[in-house]
Amino acid sequence: MREQRVRDLGGLVLEMVRRDAFREDLVYEQCSELIGIEERIQELDALLATATAVRRTPPAARCSCGAPILWGSHFCANCGRAVAADTERQADDASARDEVERPE
Ligand SMILES: [Zn+2]
Repeated sequence: MREQRVRDLGGLVLEMVRRDAFREDLVYEQCSELIGIEERIQELDALLATATAVRRTPPAARCSCGAPILWGSHFCANCGRAVAADTERQADDASARDEVERPE
């Protein structure tokens, strides 16, 4: 949609110059509409990023028995095994994920 509008604007400017009937006000009008669209897109992007981040916060932690572990629980609801402390730290520091993942 935005790319299309930019192309239209370029075509419009070209056409006006070609006909020697350049209308600055029209260009300004088109540009401010485009800027409005861009601002709207940025708002939506920010909202989307926030929504995605919130959804990603609880990692899909799993017990070694394979059952998913509820966020904040200290024991597995399936087998009762104590959840490793580093499973909780995993969420706080995503970069530490590599050292947490080890063979069983
Ligand atoms: Zn378990």
